[in-house]
Order: sequence, then structure tokens, then C-alpha cells
Amino acid sequence: MAKLEIQNLVKQYRSDVIPVNNISLSVEDGEFLTLLGPSGCGKSTLLRLIAGLETATKGKVIIGNRNVNNIAPGERNIAMVFQSYALYPHMNAADNITTALKLKKMPPEEINRRLTQAATTLELTNLLDRKPGKMSGGQRQRVALARALVRDPEVFLLDEPLSNLDALLREQVRSQMKQLFKSQNKPVVYVTHDQTEAMTLSSRVAVLYRGEVQQLDTPSWIYSHPANEFVASFVGSPQMNLFTLKRQDNSVKLGGNTIAFKSDDYERERVILGIRPEHIHLANSEDSDVVTGKITLIEELGKEKLVSIQINNSDLIIRALFSLDNLQEGDTINIALASKFLHWFDVSTGKRINNSI
Ligand code: ADP
Ligand code: MG
Repeated sequence: MAKLEIQNLVKQYRSDVIPVNNISLSVEDGEFLTLLGPSGCGKSTLLRLIAGLETATKGKVIIGNRNVNNIAPGERNIAMVFQSYALYPHMNAADNITTALKLKKMPPEEINRRLTQAATTLELTNLLDRKPGKMSGGQRQRVALARALVRDPEVFLLDEPLSNLDALLREQVRSQMKQLFKSQNKPVVYVTHDQTEAMTLSSRVAVLYRGEVQQLDTPSWIYSHPANEFVASFVGSPQMNLFTLKRQDNSVKLGGNTIAFKSDDYERERVILGIRPEHIHLANSEDSDVVTGKITLIEELGKEKLVSIQINNSDLIIRALFSLDNLQEGDTINIALASKFLHWFDVSTGKRINNSI
């Protein structure tokens, strides 16, 4: 039995605002599930429904076999970490971390034991006397995490906890957090709009859009087999190239180039072709699906270059990642679009077509 389960959850504000539209999922002990999606897609609302900070219009939230729909947030045995940290400014770190335990009248020795352990884990031992106003963003974030840890909840809920940190710190805290929650062996539900966070932290990712789960799977499967055009365009950086193309029997035309497309039961006139920039390479004599184009832009990414190529006889631009040094804007090049890297999507439903890898 899953430790956290949500069944057909709906949250509707007005007839036309349905930020959570019939979502079901379950999260096991030790599983790190990320809700990933663009701003406004309903991530926070879903998390707040689990926490009990919002009341569901329909559906159930079950924590450890117990339906908690009618149970107050404080009684749900969850701990939540917010983007804003939500620390009390007048309390030092130690009091911020332990205040909920004191309210529960936990014995002082037990409070101290938990405080010491969390402070050690999160490297806060020397900061316990300090008030939030005298701490950096990263330190405040660690206090907020410690406050969640000491509660030893049944479920951890985190809403964009790294968004206020600068890029370097975000990377550090991200890897610390991964280890931290691994050792907790509890269900974790983590909200982010940042796909790198989702991919690196999660055991599974639920991609949300318009209040619905678009795909729920492991990060690597979502990357290699996006379920629809939205997931394909949202997951992966730089973004996947996507083209809506006219179909002629078993092929499509990309500019002046022919690309094979086979599907037994696809009958629409047009089809969406996708290929990731990292899966394009300069063509050699063994390649079959070769496309010619002119380099219009080279963007330096450090290790690699992001190269925009105008496909011959068209106004289509395809972007490829190359680690070569000898390319220049204006060059004409041949690139290979290997069939094993091509993704195909239904032009009207956006769904993945099952002829592909
Ligand atoms: P996310 O966290 O993915 O950015 P939210 O869950 O905060 O998205 O919001 C999802 C949608 O629900 C948004 O369109 C938002 O405007 C709407 N929404 C959120 N809270 C309320 C509310 N209290 N009343 C009306 N609409 C709301
Ligand atoms: Mg949000």
C-alpha cells in the first residue's frame, strides 16, 4: 500500500479555473516524486491539497491508509517546505526548527536529540543562535529543511525550495538534498518548474500541464520517450526541435529532404517530427537520413556550441549541439537525423506515435 495516494483529485475555483483536474498518483516510501510543469499549471495547488491547505472539490488524499480529506493540516503528519522558507524572523534558527515540536509538548531531551541530528546533517550547528535576518538565503533554506526533518513526518512536501538560491548554491543544495531525502525513506513530493532539478533529484517525475498529468515516469524514460508534444518540448535543454510536416505515404519532407516515416495506422496528412539537438551529428558517408543546411547562428555554451541551421529550400531552423571548433556562421553543412533518434507525434492529439523508439 502506498504511503501517499491521491485519487481523482479536483480543485476548481470558478467554472473556468481548474488548476487540478482529476489527478491520481501514489508515492511509496523512499520515493522522490517531482511535479514538474510551467508556472500556473497547478503544481502548488496540488501540493496544498495534499497538505490540507486547500480543500478538494472532488477526490481523496490518503496518507498511510488513512483518508485525510477531513483532517486538518496540522494533524496530517506531513512537513512542508516553501519557496519563501516561512521562518519566524524574531526566532533564532534553533527555535525556528523546534517550535512545532515544543507545541506538541515533546519531551525536551527528544527535541534536543532531533535538533542536534538535523543541525549536524544540514551543517547548521554553528548557526543555531542566529536569527533569519542574519543568515544567507542558503542558510535559511537549510533551517527550513531542518524544521521539516525534525518533525519526522509521514510525507515530505516541498514547493520550489531552491528557487530563491543563486545557480551555484542551488546545485550544491540540490545534491545535498538528494542524499538527505534518500536517508529518510519517506515519500517526498517536490514541486519545481526547473527540469534540471526534476531530472537530477527524482525517482519519478509527473509532468503537469493545464491541471493534468501529461506523463508520469522515470526521468530517463520521459527524456527518451516523451508521451506527447508538450512533454517533448518542455523536458530537455536545449529544447527538442519540433516540426509539423506534410506526409507523403511513408515519408515526410523537411525542406528539400525526404525523411522516412512509417506507421501502420497513422492516416493524417501532417505529422510532427521531433529530434533533440544533442542527437544531431555531422553526416558522414554511412548516414542515410541526411539534411543539408546553412549555419545561421552559433551560440557558445562552453563545452559545446548550439548551432542554428537553416534547412535547405525552407525557412525551417533546426538547432544542433556540436563540440567541433571549425564551424562558422554561413557554412553549408550536412547533418544526419538518425531514425533511432526521431520522435513522431500525432498532429491533432499531440500524442506520441508508437512507431518510434
Ligand atoms: P503553479 O504552482 O504550477 O505555478 P498554481 O497551483 O499556483 O500553479 O496555480 C494554478 C492556477 O490556479 C493558476 O492559474 C492560478 O491563478 C489559479 N489559482 C491558484 N490559487 C487560486 C485561488 N485561490 N483562487 C483562484 N485561482 C487560483
Ligand atoms: Mg507554485
